[in-house]
This record gives sequence, C-alpha cells and structure tokens, in this order.
Amino acid sequence: MMHNITLIYGDGIGKEVIASVKKIIDYSGADINWDIVEAGYSAQERYGTPLPDHVTDSIKKNRIALKGPVTTPIGKGFRSVNVALRKQLNLFANVRPIKSYDGVDSIHKNVDFVIVRENTEDLYSGVEHMVGEDAAESIKIITRKASERICRFAFELARKENRKKVTLVHKANIMKLSDGLFLNSGIKCSKEYEDIQFEEVIVDAMSMKLVQSPQDYSVIVAPNLYGDILSDLSAGLIGGLGLAPGANIGENIAVFEPVHGSAPDIAGKNIANPTSAILSGIMLLKYIGEVNRAETIEKALKEIFKDRAKCTEDLGGSLGTREFTQEIINQMKG
Ligand code: NAD
Repeated sequence: MMHNITLIYGDGIGKEVIASVKKIIDYSGADINWDIVEAGYSAQERYGTPLPDHVTDSIKKNRIALKGPVTTPIGKGFRSVNVALRKQLNLFANVRPIKSYDGVDSIHKNVDFVIVRENTEDLYSGVEHMVGEDAAESIKIITRKASERICRFAFELARKENRKKVTLVHKANIMKLSDGLFLNSGIKCSKEYEDIQFEEVIVDAMSMKLVQSPQDYSVIVAPNLYGDILSDLSAGLIGGLGLAPGANIGENIAVFEPVHGSAPDIAGKNIANPTSAILSGIMLLKYIGEVNRAETIEKALKEIFKDRAKCTEDLGGSLGTREFTQEIINQMKG
C-alpha cells in the first residue's frame, strides 16, 4: 500500500539526518510518496514565515510527517515552529522512547522506558508579558481535559506495549492547583487501569532517581516542561541526544522527529549521528503498519552498534553521517 508522508528536512543537522533516514526507509522498500516541504530558516527566507500554511496543510492532508529539527532563535525572532505545529495540529502527546543498546557506551544498561509528555499547554502556552519594565510573567496553564487525555494516552500505551507501570511526574507540593490538577487527573485515570501499577513522584526526586536507577521505570507521564527536561536527561543516560527518537501524536495524525535540535555547532560537517532520526523513522514505519521493514532496520542498527568502528564519532567511532548510513544499508543487504 502506498503511503503519502510529509517530509520536512528542517535546519542545521536536520538536512543530514533526515536525508539519512529517508535513504534507509526508501532502501527498505516501503512504498512511500514523500511530500517534501520546507519549514524553519529556509522557509523564512523563501516565504517570509518559518511555517507556511502549505506545510500544515500537507500534514493535515497526509496525516503523517517525518520532520527534522528547526532552529528557534532565543529571545527574539520567530516563535517556535515546533510549538506552533503541535498547537495547530493538536499533537497532544509527545512520545519519547529511551532505550539502551548493547555496544553503545552509556551510563546505564538495560534501560527501556517511554516518556509521554503533554504537548499543548503548561508553560509552553506562550502566554507571557512584561509587568512594567523590570518583571516578566509567564502563565502556566493546566486543564483537566488535556491532563486526563495525556494520562489516558500513557495508560493505553502501557497496555499496548505490555508495560507494567506508569509513573506520573509533578510538583504538586508547590504548585498545588496546576500540578495538583495534573496529579488528580492521573489518579482518576489510574482507577480505570487497575492492571497497570501507578505511582507519582515529585520532579526533583524523579531527576535523581532517573540518574540512579532508570531501570525502575517503564512509562513516565509528565506535563510539558518536566517532560521536556527529563527526556534530555534520559537521553544522556543511554548515550546522548543522537540516540533519542520521538513522535508527536494527535487524533489520527502523527509527526515523527528526533528529540535533538538543529545542532549548529556540528551542522554541515557530516558528523551528526542520524540514529535518533532513524529510530523516529522506525517508529513511523511501525505506526503505518510496516512492522517487518521497521524491524529489519532496527536489527541492522543493533548489529552496527556492536562494532564501534562502524559508528559515528559521538559513539566512539570515526564514520561520518553518510558513511554510517551506508553501513546500515549494507547490513540490511545481509
Ligand atoms: P541541540 O540538540 O541541537 O544540541 C545539543 C548538543 O548535542 C550539541 O552539542 C550538539 O552538537 C549535540 N547533538 C545534538 N544532536 C546530535 C546528533 N544527532 N549527533 C551528534 N551530536 C548531537 O540543542 P541546542 O544546541 O540547545 O539547540 C539548537 C537549536 O535547535 C535551537 O535553535 C533550538 O531551539 C532548536 N531545537 C529544535 C528542536 C526541534 O526542532 N524539535 C528541538 C530542540 C532544539
């Protein structure tokens, strides 16, 4: 079956890592018609906006996209394309699997959990203003509807992937109303999923526990900001941002993208690790039902990881992005 999928290369290393995953997916034989559109700096230059309407229209039509990272200027310039996309397409769940691989140097082994991050509200709502000249205020928005929706999503994911525990992260001891509402939504949902263990942990304690014993976790559900921070922390536990994939999921719509950003410090040098983009591509293939092809790519990746010489520099190897991609394709050939 042919699939129409929107493809956005993005900025910086996005161009390199998305080229890599596209080449691998095309080689896998999946029947995909890529609808290539531009977002980010290049779109800003060409269309005067980093997120032209035809980009969101393409994703709305195809219902699936693969996206590279987009640079977001700090403090000035355009607003985050990612935040805008997530809001416009109502991509309410950000799913970030964290898995350690044999052969990859990492602080921890045998790690396998998924972070489910609420993607539409919290301090990312963009409601900010100056109060006079010397103070600024950001509004943290937490609603019952979005909190229950994300908690239910986390429990459903646990059931689907045969995971036994959901851990809800919050700071309700201080933010009694906003995080309190998120926590109560999780407690309410947990009563509908008695087959799955439920626990709640305060975000500061969770940061320590994740660093000490990440093997204790299976599904972690969190409001937007804590989910964002904990997923970078978690990527650090299993070998770095080059290994962390992600998906933004809404109602019958999904945008797959690596967790990392556009990495301007290494962009254009053919040294970025495309693994997080490739793992995002594997998630995409599974989502569209191409499970066998997804597993073939994952198997090839696992084999490559066993031989450091075939890896990129961040994993202790010496291959460039393109050469690493070719190694995976050679491995897929068998
Ligand atoms: P970053 O993730 O781009 O880079 C952080 C560090 O990790 C850098 O040292 C970088 O070289 C390294 N790194 C990242 N990905 C790597 C890879 N695949 N292989 C090897 N090393 C890798 O974070 P940043 O520097 O804070 O952000 C740069 C830009 O990206 C900013 O404009 C930010 O807003 C944007 N950003 C976009 C997204 C997105 O589009 N989803 C996500 C995060 C950041």
